[in-house]
Amino acid sequence: MKKIIIATKNKGKAAEFKTLFSEYGVEVLTLLDIENAPDIEETGNSFEENAALKAEGISNLTDTIVIADDSGLIVDELDGMPGIYSARYAGLEKNDEDNINKLLFEMREVPENKRTARFYCSLAVAIPGEKTIVVSGKCEGFILKERRGHNGFGYDPVFFVTVSGKSMAELSNEEKNRISHRAEALQNLVPVLKELFKRR
Ligand code: IMP
Repeated sequence: MKKIIIATKNKGKAAEFKTLFSEYGVEVLTLLDIENAPDIEETGNSFEENAALKAEGISNLTDTIVIADDSGLIVDELDGMPGIYSARYAGLEKNDEDNINKLLFEMREVPENKRTARFYCSLAVAIPGEKTIVVSGKCEGFILKERRGHNGFGYDPVFFVTVSGKSMAELSNEEKNRISHRAEALQNLVPVLKELFKRR
């Protein structure tokens, strides 16, 4: 059976990939299945680079096809911040509440029409002996002035999704999985996978 490793320890992310791969007859493993999986440092300057670094790091080690992701929030008025630093915007301990508080503080004087932002997700596929392929997806919206809703994680409560007319944290998992940056990137991955599994 063909084998692919998803470079994540997050069970939610792994489940999304398993659904996507179900039609290809591929065995999907995660970092939880790999002994002593190393933490690859995100030293790149873009989501694309960081996703590729992670995928290639694990692929070189395991000689297997590996998919890795990198995602975050891009705020126009903050020159693209928190961007690739989204998880650790307010400090190294990766605290969602602190990150939101810092974002709301930085945006405190920004008027409604200048609060545009987007979630962005890159997915990299590292294939032994071949060039890494990277696809991306985004979800447009704007930064609210206060939290709304209780679902999701990260910046969801302060991100208003333009196409849904609700905050990301007011969407059900199902709705979020239809419109999110990760969903769009996964859709963009489908033709890549079809082509890949025709060859391998
Ligand atoms: P990653 O796990 O290195 O890709 O870091 C992603 C960070 O970006 C998370 O810790 C969140 O702060 C933020 N982020 C990415 N996707 C989402 C989302 O769907 N909702 C809310 N925050 C997100």
